Amino acid sequence: MTKREDLNAETLAAQGLGRVTETYREVVPPIHVSTTYERGADGTYPGGRIYSRADNPSYDQAEALIASLERAKSAILFSSGMSASGAVFQALMPGDTALVPRNMYWALRKWLLEFAAPRGLNVELYENSSLDDLASKARARKPRVIWIETPANPTWDVTDIAAAAAVAREVGAVLAVDSTVATPMLTRPLELGADIVMHSATKYLNGHADVIAGVLANAKDDEYWQRVRYVRGSGGGVLGPFEAWLLLRGMRTLHLRVARACENAMCIATHFEGHPALSHVLYPGLASHPGHGVAAKQMQGGFGGMISLRLKGGEAAAKAFTAKLRVFKRATSLGSTESLAEHRASVEGPGTLCPPDLVRLSTGAEHAGDLIADIQQALL
Ligand code: PLP
Repeated sequence: MTKREDLNAETLAAQGLGRVTETYREVVPPIHVSTTYERGADGTYPGGRIYSRADNPSYDQAEALIASLERAKSAILFSSGMSASGAVFQALMPGDTALVPRNMYWALRKWLLEFAAPRGLNVELYENSSLDDLASKARARKPRVIWIETPANPTWDVTDIAAAAAVAREVGAVLAVDSTVATPMLTRPLELGADIVMHSATKYLNGHADVIAGVLANAKDDEYWQRVRYVRGSGGGVLGPFEAWLLLRGMRTLHLRVARACENAMCIATHFEGHPALSHVLYPGLASHPGHGVAAKQMQGGFGGMISLRLKGGEAAAKAFTAKLRVFKRATSLGSTESLAEHRASVEGPGTLCPPDLVRLSTGAEHAGDLIADIQQALL
């Protein structure tokens, strides 16, 4: 019989791990809504569960699928990408240092600087484009956690995961990677030496803009990971059972959606590179992108579905362009079947590091011709 480890990611995803239930031989798992579980007369828990804030059987298959796709020891679901990311830092102690990129998902940077730092976490920023900066700050500050996001919002800077992992090992830090944009279909950070991988499962993993969820997957089951698990179980940032079920359902088409998003993004990026209204088309798949070389090394099968366009006409032109789009939906977020566009600086608000002339695009599963025609008419 074929062992699960021998199956390709596409097969694992399409079958939601291929499990059938014992009683009715269902190919789709049921949703377990009970918050509590009966104890035996002897005080034990014959079902192996106690209370659903700690765990819920509805998580099992989605967590196991993500762990298989990431080649992880295990995976744990959270109520959002932010709660998953937060758990990595909440597992630290006051006085510990976290080394994080300057360019990253803005809400996490804001939380680290405005919430975690005043409560005792030393937050040190490195320049995404400079591995030397990451390495010298890591050697000087001895962080407990090094965080990377690759490709990183909103300019899609690429960080060399294997090189960052070597630095993390040297200084004894945990390397955690926000791999939301790459997805496990394009990059497997744990195989490149990372310790933890985080996804906002709200994005590609679920893929249909109808679930907020997050996940962490780990390479080793050490004391630090136990603390991360404790943050979820005690902090209570857990996912509802229906959302976990929807997430598993969404992941059955992850490979198809990601492949299509990559194809569409590459078509758009190559079509509009050099357009007279644009100063930059930022996409790691283009040879002109500063991160292209590393992306080609650590991303297999495509460069993702995220592109940013910078308009020569500045902020006003970027906003006018966004307003004229008809097929792209004007909405924040990414990784769903419908293509999305946003004037990123105004979504991030005061203190944003995002250039005001930048429009962020998430390509969906539509026909590339329709997306190109839409951008074309909006640039006129
Ligand atoms: N990481 C990245 C790269 C994101 O784009 C987002 C959300 O936009 C998050 C993390 C946070 O995830 P969530 O919105 O599920 O909390």
